[in-house]
Amino acid sequence: MQLDIIRQRLREAGAQDEHVRRILRDWVQGRSRDAGRRPAQDYLPLSVRAILPALDADLSAMASIRSQHPADDGSMRLLVALADGQTVESVLLPRDGLCVSSQVGCAVGCQFCMTGRSGLLRQVTSGEIVAQVALARTLRPVKKVVFMGMGEPAHNLANVLPAIELLGIEGNIAHKNLVFSTVGDPRVPERLLAGPVKPALALSLHTTRADLRAELLPNAPRMAPREIVEMGEAYARATGYPIQYQWTLLEGVNDSEEELDGIVGLLAGKYAVLNMIPYNTIPGLAFRRPSWEQARAIAARLHARGVLTKLRDSAGQDVDGGCGQLRARALAADGS
Ligand code: SF4
Repeated sequence: MQLDIIRQRLREAGAQDEHVRRILRDWVQGRSRDAGRRPAQDYLPLSVRAILPALDADLSAMASIRSQHPADDGSMRLLVALADGQTVESVLLPRDGLCVSSQVGCAVGCQFCMTGRSGLLRQVTSGEIVAQVALARTLRPVKKVVFMGMGEPAHNLANVLPAIELLGIEGNIAHKNLVFSTVGDPRVPERLLAGPVKPALALSLHTTRADLRAELLPNAPRMAPREIVEMGEAYARATGYPIQYQWTLLEGVNDSEEELDGIVGLLAGKYAVLNMIPYNTIPGLAFRRPSWEQARAIAARLHARGVLTKLRDSAGQDVDGGCGQLRARALAADGS
């Protein structure tokens, strides 16, 4: 269900704009799934109260937990079933973060990603994106939402932008704590800046070499790494938030001296953070994970050369931590 359909259903039942806002606020804040936490509804017309039980049931059915997988680092991966039986992954991150999925599958086809192997199966609707947050909030507080799960948000702007708007306005999430993550699409900054909620931006760089980028991210827009960083810098200046550049560290692929020099050339002095994430090994794929010590040494060298670098692990390493692996394993177990 799109958010607009939910609003329309409420209006048709007689809800005023303020009623619609309050009902959506209760939902996105995780209160409407739990009758004990739902605020009194006596401010609503009877005709609206009459449709709430059915509406709540539909909202809950948009995202339900198929399985949950806690990890030692405090994160928890959720395999989330959508109403049509498709599944996506959400990850509860340490420090009240949540990573959501914006598509079932993905068309970008990154060579090191399990989700990219299936191609795009369907878009996740704006309602289903918000439903992932509402669901997660029944388990834990959520103060930050990153669009880094399955899918390329830039390929689903019609759903991702309304979801960001609702999360930022009614969802009690600071705008800079909403993180739109993309492989780099020239349409994105303009669209994000035009909305009432301006999220932070993460750009997946992975290499400073245009030829290698075309190999690793075969269906990403053909932007040179320098153009991606120019785009990021302009967005950072417009919003006042630093850009997060993502770098999945692949042993023997993008960890050379040439790459490190390239990173320094592109990012030193920029309003940016480089998130370096050692690749999470996926059975059947040829890429290798560098040791933590190697990764730490690379991050320290970049830091010393003027690039603010944070070494991060893919959350939930011990429970199929790479994007799309949980779903792939569940499909294999189902025999689908
Ligand atoms: Fe798509 Fe992200 Fe996977 Fe690339 S890494 S295929 S953009 S989900």
